[in-house]
Amino acid sequence: MNDLQKIVQASVDLIGDIPYQDYTFIAIGPGGGGIEHLNSTTFAFTGESQNNPQSRLRTLFFLAHEYFHHYNVKRIRPIELGPFDYDQGSRTNQLWISEGLTVYYEYLLLRRAGLCSDEELLEALRKNIQGFEDKPGRLYQTLLQASYETWSDGPFGAPEMR
Ligand SMILES: [Zn+2]
Repeated sequence: MNDLQKIVQASVDLIGDIPYQDYTFIAIGPGGGGIEHLNSTTFAFTGESQNNPQSRLRTLFFLAHEYFHHYNVKRIRPIELGPFDYDQGSRTNQLWISEGLTVYYEYLLLRRAGLCSDEELLEALRKNIQGFEDKPGRLYQTLLQASYETWSDGPFGAPEMR
């Protein structure tokens, strides 16, 4: 909770606004991933990741990412993403911008919150860039196409392009 508070404070310091009355982190137990909402985020969490410093850091990056989405994606967003169509999905070719900036800020926020070192920040960025460069799909599909096809391919791309 103390680390979450630092992440929230670093975000508020960065943006200079708190656009909600209340915000809730909803941990739902085992599973994977999370989803942002306007005034909350829902995420898989069992607490086990807190026993290992590296998995703990990954969890904090992830929580910073989901939290920052209430600014970037829920309020600052491509026009196609709002109001969100939960039945059909909301297609946009700009998801790569929204997600890319949020990933950048998840790292920056943890550094500004004092929860990671410069070396840990650079290593997380390095792994992220390496992960992209190792995916053969980047040679066959543009970022715009990948953004648009998220609803049919899933958030990590089509299996044959991973
Ligand atoms: Zn995201």
